[in-house]
This record gives sequence, C-alpha cells and structure tokens, in this order.
Amino acid sequence: MWDVIVVGAGPAGCTAAALLSRAGLRVTLLDKSAAPPPKVCGEYLSPGCLPILDGIGLLSSLRDAGARPLNGMVIHTAGGRTLEATYPRDGGIQGLPARGLAIRRALLDPLLLDTAIKQGAEFAPNFQVSDLVWKDGRVAGVRGRRRGQMINHRARLVIGADGRNSAVARRMGTVQPHPWLDKIALVGYFAGVERSGAVGEIFLGRDLYGILNPITPELTNIGLVVNRRDFAATADLTRLFLETAATVPGLRNRLARARAVQPPRCLGPLAYRSRRLAARGALLIGDAAGFLDPFTGEGIYAALRSAEIAVECVVSFLLTDCTAPADPQDFPLAWRREFLPKWRFCAKLQYAVRHPALAECLVSHLARHPALLSRLMAGVGDLIPARELAWHRLLFRR
Ligand SMILES: Cc1cc2nc3c(=O)[nH]c(=O)nc-3n(C[C@H](O)[C@H](O)[C@H](O)COP(=O)(O)OP(=O)(O)OC[C@H]3O[C@@H](n4cnc5c(N)ncnc54)[C@H](O)[C@@H]3O)c2cc1C
Repeated sequence: MWDVIVVGAGPAGCTAAALLSRAGLRVTLLDKSAAPPPKVCGEYLSPGCLPILDGIGLLSSLRDAGARPLNGMVIHTAGGRTLEATYPRDGGIQGLPARGLAIRRALLDPLLLDTAIKQGAEFAPNFQVSDLVWKDGRVAGVRGRRRGQMINHRARLVIGADGRNSAVARRMGTVQPHPWLDKIALVGYFAGVERSGAVGEIFLGRDLYGILNPITPELTNIGLVVNRRDFAATADLTRLFLETAATVPGLRNRLARARAVQPPRCLGPLAYRSRRLAARGALLIGDAAGFLDPFTGEGIYAALRSAEIAVECVVSFLLTDCTAPADPQDFPLAWRREFLPKWRFCAKLQYAVRHPALAECLVSHLARHPALLSRLMAGVGDLIPARELAWHRLLFRR
C-alpha cells in the first residue's frame, strides 16, 4: 500500500514524485518503458520552468549537461516582417534576466527521473498501466502488466502523468479533441541550418508554421505544424518535411545547406483535453490533462507546474491523516485557474496563424509598442499569470 502511485515518468510524473517523496510520503513511479522513451518535442523550456527546476535542485545539472540559454524569440511572418522579442530583463531567477532553455529531452528526462529517485521515489520500470482499481466508488490503485504478469498496486492517491493517450485519463472519463484545432507535427534534427544566435525562431506560413531551436552548437531541432487535412501520409518523412518547409518563406533559405541527422518524427492530432481532471483517489497532470499546441511551447511548463499544483492540493492531507484515501477535489479548479487563460490566449494566437493578414497586423502592432511586446513575452514565457494576457489589454493598453 503506497501513499501515492504516479503513473508515467515524464516531466510531470518525475516532478510530482520528487516533491511528494521529499515531503516524506511513500511514492512509487511506474513507467511502461525501462527508461524515459524518446519524445516528439521542440525541446524548448520557457523561462517559467527554471524556478521549478531550481526548486527540485535540477537547474545546475541541466546547465552542466549542456542546456543552452535562449534570450527570446524571433517571429518571421509570411509577408516578410521580422519581430525580435526578448524575455524581460528582470524576470529571471536571482535577479538575472529571464531566459528560456534549449535542452534535448534525451538529457532532460533522465535527469528528472534521477531527481525523483534521489528524493526517495521508488521507480518501477516496464510497468504498463492498463486500468484503475476502483473500490466503493473511488480509485484505490492501478492494474498493469509487468514482464507478462498482471499486477495490482494500491495507494491512497493515483496521479495520472502518463502523457497523451493516458490510460488513467481514459479510465477516469472522456478525452475530447479540440473543436477546431486539428494539427499534426513533424519534428526533426538538422545539421548545417543557418541560425540567428541564442533565440528560438518561429516562421509563419499560410496556415502552418515552423519552429527552429538551436539545440546544440551543431544541431537544430525544427518542428513543422500543419493542418491534419493537408497532411499526406508517406514513408519518406524527410522528403515531406523538406517539401513542406520549402513553402514557408524564410525557412526555405535557412535549410538550403541543411541535412537531416535522423528522419523526422510525426505526431498528431495535437490538441485535446480530458474532461474530468480528478476523481476520488485520482487526478491528472501534464499532458494527461490535455495539450493545445507547441506554438508557445509551454507543454513542459504545464507538466512541471501542474505537478506542483497537485502536490499543493494533496500533500497536507496525505501527511496529516496517514491512512485515509485522498479526495483531490480542489485540484480541478486550481488547474483551470492556472491553465485555461493561457489556453484561451494561445487558441487566439492559433486563429492569427490561420489568418495571415491578422498575423501581419498583430506583429506590426507589437513592433510599434515595445512595452506590450515585453508583456506578451512575460506571459508567453510563463513569468506572469496568463490572465494578464487578455487580448484587449495587449492591444489597447500601453
Ligand atoms: C510536436 C510537439 C512539440 C513540442 N515542443 C515542446 C517544446 O518545445 N517545449 C515544451 O515545453 N513542450 C513541448 N511540447 C509538449 C511536451 O513535449 C509535453 O507537454 C511534455 O512532454 C508533457 O510531459 P508529461 O510528463 O505530461 O508527459 P510525457 O513526457 O509524455 O511522459 C509520459 C510518460 O508516461 C509513460 N506512460 C505512458 N503511458 C503509460 C502507461 N499506460 N503506463 C505506464 N507509463 C506510461 C511514458 O512512457 C512517458 O514516460 C511539444 C509537443 C509536441 C507534440
């Protein structure tokens, strides 16, 4: 009998397991893989991630592992405008300027798992959760397969951190696609890409976009996000990637001398949301709760921050009453308060991506109003609450 079972050893699950173990709770962290599996990801961490990673003692290890600071973003519109946007000078940790980070998931995820284990969580690899164990109308544990054997684990709380296609989310209720965002991403590593320095770059095309992240001195992570209806499945994803990238004005030139280091990977549909975020004895964090789009790159922030919120909601109960099952009824409201404003804002940005004339107007407006641009970067970088990113404030308040 565990205090907490965390399903999924990605950023969300490892952060929750580290924080709960540090508080003195008995935590097991289950993952269907032997070690964190490769992820389709732009590998950009927003500045808001840094204080959370610092809080679990990981930031210096990430820097030692080669994480590269990013000063901001450069946006290139389909009409040829360029907008350079840096993160706020005073928004970083220890009074330093705010920075994002570029780091390969192949480095980040194992370091997060090490942190959870060092804090006392027990890691159970190769355990694929297939079902929840219910007792008296509440979740009392999980059922899954390890080395061909079906095993039940029981706990006072189950945290579903098993990413998109979450088994825990599906067993708790329905997972809904976004009403109008229906996109697919192609992500690959390229060498020989022409780059602009320590910044992420977004290239807007006609209802599609590309993101370029200078992940190591030689390698560039490039993601293309296209409508699913425009995506023609093919065995040669490198060719499809280069053909699609060639339709995005600025990106075409950057790839003139590039070569794919490994074939791009494809993932979609991207946007969905779990309707039920908590049940008696269980809750969902990270991608298991939902995902919108990689445009503003806050998936890892949402994973880390939702883990923090979950722990804030349950830890004192779990520590005070040492046997009773947890009922995380405060969690859904806390989750919605934190993330829904950003989702609404990002959905509107997606509307602008869909309408290039609107994107041109927005970019030229922001270029004329640096204070607004700085506020936008603080919000997009997860440094200020997303509710302060309301469109009318961005457009009309200087
Ligand atoms: C194209 C694309 C680009 C992106 N780019 C960025 C970016 O640049 N920056 C950013 O911040 N975010 C980005 N994201 C989002 C980011 O990758 C995710 O939000 C993040 O990985 C979520 O972390 P997580 O811990 O919730 O889930 P995951 O990282 O997916 O981890 C889930 C874990 O659960 C395990 N698991 C799954 N099912 C089971 C099961 N049944 N039983 C046991 N274990 C299970 C898996 O093995 C995995 O280890 C991008 C997403 C996409 C699609």
